[in-house]
Amino acid sequence: MTDEELKKKKTLLLEYSQLMQKEGLVIGPGGNTSIKDEDGVMWISPSGIPFMEMSIDDFVPIDVSTGKILDSRLMPSSEVALHLFLYQARSDINCIFHSHPPYVISLSSVDILLVPLFPDFVVYLGDYVPQVTYVTPCTEDMAQLVVQAMKDVPSCVLKNHGAIAVGKSIKEAYTRTQVLESGAQILFQAKLLGEPYVLSKKDSQAILNLEIEQYRKKLLQKSDK
Ligand code: 13P
Ligand code: ZN
Repeated sequence: MTDEELKKKKTLLLEYSQLMQKEGLVIGPGGNTSIKDEDGVMWISPSGIPFMEMSIDDFVPIDVSTGKILDSRLMPSSEVALHLFLYQARSDINCIFHSHPPYVISLSSVDILLVPLFPDFVVYLGDYVPQVTYVTPCTEDMAQLVVQAMKDVPSCVLKNHGAIAVGKSIKEAYTRTQVLESGAQILFQAKLLGEPYVLSKKDSQAILNLEIEQYRKKLLQKSDK
């Protein structure tokens, strides 16, 4: 990966991290994001700096295989273990977003699990979003539980804390973050009105079998230009 390509990726990551703050999916210095480059280095947001106030030079480089910090001018995010362990366990992902979406947190606090109520939920998240029990943030315990829960799914909810979404591309991980919150908001509203119809396994499979959905998914995975 050339310096120019890496700069472009970091610029896109910052743009989408800032969007996450603008859209209220994190508040103040909450949340963190990272990408993994082609040389096996993850670039993670620094701890405690709101995305709106950071620059692309503030992402902290860490060797994924050893966990060694390659530039220590700034402290990496306090969720460094979470990002590191996920990249170590999942060679299929290149980007991670950790967010604090209000509806996701509300539902998790009363143990209402996210379920598929609409097609985009199934397309971007599948038919199952695991919820990890509450553990102290920023700990290896939490990171290990997340890795276990996300063996073959692209997102999870952290009870009373937030959400994690991963992707092959920055835009895929970000879209998943948006769909998690929209899924939580729709579920919250539907439950106020009555008992919502939850898409069945058969409904979900029929959506996933649509050729156009496969096409849309691939497009998103290749969209980090
Ligand atoms: P950092 O600012 O250290 O990334 O922490 C934010 C957060 O969301 C912790 O869970
Ligand atoms: Zn957090």
